Amino acid sequence: MSASTILAAPLAGWCVPLSEVPDPVFAERMAGDGVAIDPTAGVLHAPCDGEIVAMKDAKHAVTVRSASGVDVLMHVGIDTVELKGAGFEMLVAAGQRVRSGQPLLRFDLDLLARRARSLLTPIVLASPGAVVRRSENRAVAVGDFLMEIAAAEGPPATTETQVVASRAFRVPFEHGLHVRPAAQIAAALRPFASVVEIAALGRKANARSPVAMMSLGVHSGDTIEVSARGADALAAIAALEPLLAPVKAPVSSAARGEAKREAPATTRGELRQRIEASIASRGLAIGPAVRWTQPEIAVAERGSDESGEAAALARALATVQSHLEAQAGAARGEQRALLEAHVQLIRDPDLAERSRDGMRRGKSAAFAWRQATRAIIEGLAAVGDDRMRERAADLRDLENQVVRALSGEPPGGTRELPEGAILLADEVLPSQMIAIERSRVAGICSARGGPTSHMAILAAASGIPALVAAGSAILAIADGTMLALDAEHGWLDVDPPAPQRAALQRAVAQRAAERASDIEAARRPSRTRDGVTIGVNANLGSLAEARTALECGAEGCGLLRTEFLFLDRSEPPDEDEQARDYQAIATALDGRPVSIRTMDIGGDKPIAYLPMPHEDNPALGMRGVRASLAQPELLRTQLRAVLRVEPAGQCRVLLPMVTDLADFRAVRAILGECVAERGLAAAPALGVMIETPASALLAEQLAAEADFLSIGTNDLSQYALAVDRGHPQLAPRLDALHPAVLRLIALVADAGRAKHKTVSVCGALGSDVDALPILVGLGIHEISATCAMIPRLKRMARLLDAGECRELARRALDQASAAAVRELAAVARARARAPSTDSVSGG
Ligand code: PEP
Ligand code: MG
Repeated sequence: MSASTILAAPLAGWCVPLSEVPDPVFAERMAGDGVAIDPTAGVLHAPCDGEIVAMKDAKHAVTVRSASGVDVLMHVGIDTVELKGAGFEMLVAAGQRVRSGQPLLRFDLDLLARRARSLLTPIVLASPGAVVRRSENRAVAVGDFLMEIAAAEGPPATTETQVVASRAFRVPFEHGLHVRPAAQIAAALRPFASVVEIAALGRKANARSPVAMMSLGVHSGDTIEVSARGADALAAIAALEPLLAPVKAPVSSAARGEAKREAPATTRGELRQRIEASIASRGLAIGPAVRWTQPEIAVAERGSDESGEAAALARALATVQSHLEAQAGAARGEQRALLEAHVQLIRDPDLAERSRDGMRRGKSAAFAWRQATRAIIEGLAAVGDDRMRERAADLRDLENQVVRALSGEPPGGTRELPEGAILLADEVLPSQMIAIERSRVAGICSARGGPTSHMAILAAASGIPALVAAGSAILAIADGTMLALDAEHGWLDVDPPAPQRAALQRAVAQRAAERASDIEAARRPSRTRDGVTIGVNANLGSLAEARTALECGAEGCGLLRTEFLFLDRSEPPDEDEQARDYQAIATALDGRPVSIRTMDIGGDKPIAYLPMPHEDNPALGMRGVRASLAQPELLRTQLRAVLRVEPAGQCRVLLPMVTDLADFRAVRAILGECVAERGLAAAPALGVMIETPASALLAEQLAAEADFLSIGTNDLSQYALAVDRGHPQLAPRLDALHPAVLRLIALVADAGRAKHKTVSVCGALGSDVDALPILVGLGIHEISATCAMIPRLKRMARLLDAGECRELARRALDQASAAAVRELAAVARARARAPSTDSVSGG
């Protein structure tokens, strides 16, 4: 049985539970378990015999270490770090031995009463151990019994393989590594077993000890090196990323990394090169480089005779088309949808006409076809929209396939790959993606391309980690070079040192196991620990995604982006075609609810078949429901198609970009006419997307008339924060966890509650695991997310406690920036990952 340490009250005053301290760092015991005292006199005394522990630059807090190794942190008042020592007089020095009851610190009670957020003074156990008895809710005099501490058990024996990893971070906190961030770091590490240390300014500190970290004297902007040793070392370091700012090595410069299996932390290796890139499909991979190049086939410009060339082109097109159809017949999901789209594309009349025109001018079939596809690619590039630009890869793919067919080469044709290869390519074309053997490819990195390209979609659908837009440097990497592809952070490490390879391999295995168990549990409903059901739907843009959604555990479709169903075409879809597509998706979802959003055209989603007059500011122009009301026949066609879907009632209608009731009522009137036309007994549920600050502010009016509300956080943040959602430099500012956006969401959630209407979140915030606790806390009990995130979101929901989430949300609303909210959210996530461990000392 371990010995215990008795602590005496260091202050006279009223003793309260820590949970009453108005600071989550203490209230949630991140800094350690203990009690708080509301002082009635301005002198802090030693709670036991011991030694003063150095706490750099801290004039408002003192730590005493007892002979038994118990660290007692006493933090006078809340937010007193801001006073920078004003009103405090330290009576002891670091390293000094003190006796229980000895005065340690004098403070000006009146000044603190005026300037500090609270006088409540937490007294917490900042070293391992447990509070087994404590005084609470009573007056105490200096020297009265305060707490009994039981010593910690020894560290568990290490049986697992050791991984050693390290990472440099820049300290982003305004006051450096003071109590609050140090406690947050310690709390974030709680779910992990590894030994974690922080090195800075030539010293090292245990990253589980806020006191030790504070003693480093680290200031805002300083670089610290975090090293972890243990089976979950990588995950432990990753858990700190949301709190600290990772120091990224510049492109192509040497970066130091280390990771070691069964080796001391001092073993270091050098990375030859780190190349940053955009993430197309999340995940980690390690393997040998294989360059996946495709030399352009040379073609003669001049043709023989026009009719001979035209016949050759027709034959080549037919060959490629039947190859695509055969592949589509054998494919599933995203692959099938893509191949079907390519069949449409190859029959495109505009492409045919342009090619004929070339042959009429004496060009060869191959030359004319290439010219025709490239003219369209250039047109897409000029649109200025990434999604459109990325369709260029589909056209380049068809260009190649047809030119190959014209040169007499067989369609398809795959290359033998070594096991676990990381493919490097200028651009990976969709047909190459389809042709590769998933089991042989560990990861993909392309010099060009974008995160919404079909390659990215296919890679994500097959679970292949992928990076895009890495630049042409990757094409100089020799075949066989070992690569570590990190599509969680967005970089490719060339020839990483052996220890890093080993660590990454373990991380890859761990991710795969986690994902497998998430998917296995995904079909079950998700309920928080205190029994609140969180509905998780899918955001869909294709039939293929609908099939994937079910595999991922979606309970319905909260947002069908219908404009995505009809992208690559020059004619608007008619009623029959739309009815067929909606029916197919409804059938695939097997009776689950489907929210069909009317076409959200305009703004960042221009559509070729619906040319719009030039607008100086299209985001604020004719988009969403405004465009639909300006062309009511298109809207009617779409509503009629929705009304044809069986069974009636499975589909609901959702309106994008609503400003106020006038928009809603205008569509409701048209929907009413369509319902009457078909002689239906009831209209489908009609919902409103809350994407403009106006609609959020008027949510209560909208909730009174609409059947449901769905918050589109992508646009809502763009408009609330005045940041163009496609602006590359301003992208970091566009965070929907900004307190301004959260306050709008809170208004909408309250309005839904008041009018008994469901409010869901379908923007990207709904797919953000860190945002989920805050959304739940705001009263959002339904989200619609991208399919791949659904299993993880459901796991997260099961780890939450709605009561705790409410408290978290309340605090989030009071933060001053999105970064501050993310700090809170990261801690909440770290705690949620291991609720049972976190609550052990909860008292
Ligand atoms: C949104 O704006 O959050 C939303 C879901 O709509 P989209 O991203 O399609 O504009
Ligand atoms: Mg939107």
